[in-house]
Amino acid sequence: MAEHQEGFVLTTVDSIMSSLRRNVAAKALDLGAPVVNWARKSALWPMTFGLACCAIEMIATGAGRFDIDRFGAGVFRPSPRQSDLIIIAGTVTLKMGPVVRRVYEQMPEPKWAIAMGACASTGGPFDSYSTMQGVDRCIPVDVYIPGCPPRPEALLYGLMRLQDIIMREAPSAYIFESDGSVHRQRTLEGDDELAGALARDSEAIPV
Ligand code: SF4
Repeated sequence: MAEHQEGFVLTTVDSIMSSLRRNVAAKALDLGAPVVNWARKSALWPMTFGLACCAIEMIATGAGRFDIDRFGAGVFRPSPRQSDLIIIAGTVTLKMGPVVRRVYEQMPEPKWAIAMGACASTGGPFDSYSTMQGVDRCIPVDVYIPGCPPRPEALLYGLMRLQDIIMREAPSAYIFESDGSVHRQRTLEGDDELAGALARDSEAIPV
């Protein structure tokens, strides 16, 4: 009986706490959303990460002629732990998939991803046994940029669209896992497919 009562009290306390979290703390935090989001979108720190030819265009975007610093995103970091944006610039092979996933997972929340170019978005011209047909099979992508390769202006345009997305987000969604005005789905439909592809890949090619 005492055990039953204890369980009832714990469940009630739990539900009160969760209701307070959802209805008071999350809403209070979201009141400051315009300021928090503005700060986040104005100080994106991209990961220094390039995979193929598209990376050259990304590098050019950081140079003086195009000057990505004008958008507050010029501080390329050498560590995923200091980055909040990953730009997948280039062809992603099936062997590279787990590495991309690991690097992405090492980035702290909130974090965003841009698929730059045809290869990162869909596999591009490489419909082959070794190429992942879009990096969204291993990480969630926020913005896709078409082109082979996209010019630096296209990357800047994609960055501005990402900033628009950030401005519509609910900061509480990252902290309380409450449903904000934007709900970010972090589970990936392609998880099984990636695992299967990797298993097939390791069978076919001895590591
Ligand atoms: S999209 Fe074109 S330029 Fe970019 S990595 Fe693929 S082949 Fe290279």
